[in-house]
Amino acid sequence: MMNVKVFKFGGASVNSAEGVRNVASILERYRGESVMLVVSAMGKTTTALENLLQSYLSKDAVTLSERFYQLKDFHVDIVHELFSDKEHPVFEALKRLFGQLQAFLQLPPAGEYDEVYDQVVSYGELLSSQILHHFLVLSGLDVKLFDARQLILTDRSFRDARVDWGKTQLRIQKQLFTWFQSGKGRMGLTQGFIGSEPMGLTTTLGREGSDFTAAIIGYALRTKEVTIWKDVPGVLNADPKWFDHPQKLDKLSYREAIELAYYGATIIHPKTIKPLENANIRLRVKSFRDPEAPGTIIENLQAWSLPCPVYIRKTNQVLISISPRDFSFIMEENLSQIFGILSRHRVRAHVMQNSAISFSICTDNDPVRIPPLLTELKHLYTVRFNDAVQLYTIRHYDQEAINRITAEKKVLLEQKTRSTVHLVLID
Ligand code: ASP
Ligand code: MG
Repeated sequence: MMNVKVFKFGGASVNSAEGVRNVASILERYRGESVMLVVSAMGKTTTALENLLQSYLSKDAVTLSERFYQLKDFHVDIVHELFSDKEHPVFEALKRLFGQLQAFLQLPPAGEYDEVYDQVVSYGELLSSQILHHFLVLSGLDVKLFDARQLILTDRSFRDARVDWGKTQLRIQKQLFTWFQSGKGRMGLTQGFIGSEPMGLTTTLGREGSDFTAAIIGYALRTKEVTIWKDVPGVLNADPKWFDHPQKLDKLSYREAIELAYYGATIIHPKTIKPLENANIRLRVKSFRDPEAPGTIIENLQAWSLPCPVYIRKTNQVLISISPRDFSFIMEENLSQIFGILSRHRVRAHVMQNSAISFSICTDNDPVRIPPLLTELKHLYTVRFNDAVQLYTIRHYDQEAINRITAEKKVLLEQKTRSTVHLVLID
């Protein structure tokens, strides 16, 4: 079987013309090899599209138009910087995509929130892939653009689509193998994060889902290694955005990586590791600013332990406490009813804890999902909630690590196992 390298470039790597040039210069080092690229939306485009969607759904014509043109200018400016030939087909490609998006936003929303979300938010990757593709071709690389909606086939769970592995593998093998086998040194490029459901509508795999796309492709191609190029030197023991002097981890086991991702470490999308582990594919996390450095390797490690505690922070959480109205105990029937309601509202509890008379969960304070959830719960239970709380998880904690996190904060909930502590805190 041929060895295709799978590279994923995240939003931060392509947030400017300079970023796009840097990606091209990294690929220059792999000239002559078979490389499949997966690209995210540029910079903070996905969030910008979420805001655009908000304006569209709330029929706020002023911010809708403002946000639309901001997004358009951001992309058009990058393209002007990259392409001196103003007749280059990339300009036409951008015009077409923005035209489609604008036409969509002029019609009343068809379908439920999650479905409309995917149709709008997927433009981030459609735009970035067009720009990167044209630029790589201009740089003399032999790159073919594949539409991820023809490769990644999913069900209709919009915003969190489940992959149809059988069909997806066939598509990837058929389309990508054919391309890579047809000549040496070929590269392919596709969008991360997006796929399509059986009727052909666009779906997305959940925020930060491009890593998962790279893993799906790596799995289907049975590659040896998947590389995620990031703006950090590798997997760190905490996010430098809030933690001083984090340590880089040289290696991690699949198991540990799954745990970290599950608890919300944003370095890797939670679903990414499993397919790689199943096919024993190494995952490398590397810096696009320092392509020589080895980064972090995630692979099958048995007797191995982390050199330091790992800290994970989730902000914008809500702690919800649910108690039976009559002060009766929380029983299995209540729990099963509560879980039914959570699942119907597609709300995932990051931490849950129960006492005799109440059941608490900590979850993302999602402005779309939480209010209707609370309304339904309040019909049946006494519900108290604390928003603006933070959830910290420390893997392989010690007391010093806990003290470092809880200093000057109030602890609302603490839950310990041998390897992990969860702390729900408020300032
Ligand atoms: N662009 C998407 C997001 O920002 C997917 C990704 O970057 O992985 O969530
Ligand atoms: Mg991103």
